[in-house]
Amino acid sequence: MNPFSLQGSTALVTGANAGIGQAIALAMARAGASLICAGRSSSAETVAMIDGARELRLDFADPMAARDVFADTSIDILVNNAGIIRRADAVDFTEADWDAVMDVNLKAVFFTCQAFGKAMLARGGRGAIINIASLLSFQGGIRVPSYTAAKHGVAGLTRLLANEWAASGINVNAIAPGYIATRNTEALRADPERNRAILDRIPAGRWGDPSDIGETAVFLASPAARYIHGAILNVDGGWLAR
Ligand code: NAP
Repeated sequence: MNPFSLQGSTALVTGANAGIGQAIALAMARAGASLICAGRSSSAETVAMIDGARELRLDFADPMAARDVFADTSIDILVNNAGIIRRADAVDFTEADWDAVMDVNLKAVFFTCQAFGKAMLARGGRGAIINIASLLSFQGGIRVPSYTAAKHGVAGLTRLLANEWAASGINVNAIAPGYIATRNTEALRADPERNRAILDRIPAGRWGDPSDIGETAVFLASPAARYIHGAILNVDGGWLAR
């Protein structure tokens, strides 16, 4: 058996309609997994590109939205990718912007992991969780207090869950993407000065492509990563090495 293959697994990817989530779904399908593409918007475009993929509507404005998703299924790979960002100076940051980001980017991640973990532990067998963290799991950023707090939280939760579930055959890890060309970063790329400043600091000399994250997610979900637990893998063109 090819240790990098996902043949015979079923993966649920949140936020699979666009950007990094879509690339992860496509890469996992290429590696042989069956796909459930979850999100608040329709994932029809992604589903149309993957044989046998299914769509699931989940809106993490309710952080418990996935509470019943895993009970009667054999999903063995969970990718918590859905995320939002709100920007304002710290002195002006509102409670609404704090709560919205913490709910989707942190609280929903934990309770989705919990629902998946409960089902996996009851069923037995090998499973994998991949949380999408950020450079702001390590750095402070600016004007994004709830995003930074949530992504630091994702790194911590990834380690905590790995500690609790590693011995039961569940690999819990995270990917910290660098600057990836998605609609999330469109404004940065459209601003020539910001774009140049960002590129100047990336050793690889280019923006990341969503497929760079997709293929890393395949690796972390595969049997090849069986002894990797609690890792936050930077996929950032070398940004954090500077
Ligand atoms: P994106 O294109 O904006 O994708 C975000 C995804 O999350 C979309 O599918 C979005 O659905 C979904 N989502 C947002 N709120 C949701 C909710 N309440 N319920 C369910 N789904 C929801 O941006 P992206 O760059 O691919 O981001 C994906 C992940 O990577 C995020 O966690 C982000 O923080 C992280 N990340 C991105 C970068 C980067 O440079 N792009 C860097 C580091 C980390 P809708 O289409 O309905 O909005």
